[in-house]
Amino acid sequence: MAGGWTRDGAVQDQIDASVNDAVNLARSRLPDGGGLRHCAQCDNVIPDARRKAIPGVRLCISCQSELEKKQTGLTGINRRGSKDSQLK
Ligand SMILES: [Zn+2]
Repeated sequence: MAGGWTRDGAVQDQIDASVNDAVNLARSRLPDGGGLRHCAQCDNVIPDARRKAIPGVRLCISCQSELEKKQTGLTGINRRGSKDSQLK
């Protein structure tokens, strides 16, 4: 029973990680329009210095670091999940 849940969760995590990768890839290919003045997530003002430092930036510092934290976690799960499914 517990094993079933674990496998279901792993599959979902892999899908989520793939979607995130695709979003990041698409985002990295967007033409540089100078980025957003306001965070795409929380609508806080993005400081000019940050927008200059990161062309095409869409998130404020706090949202960006939250996103990176989540993506680091998902990537780790995805790597383990991929290895497991290849072994089986
Ligand atoms: Zn934000």
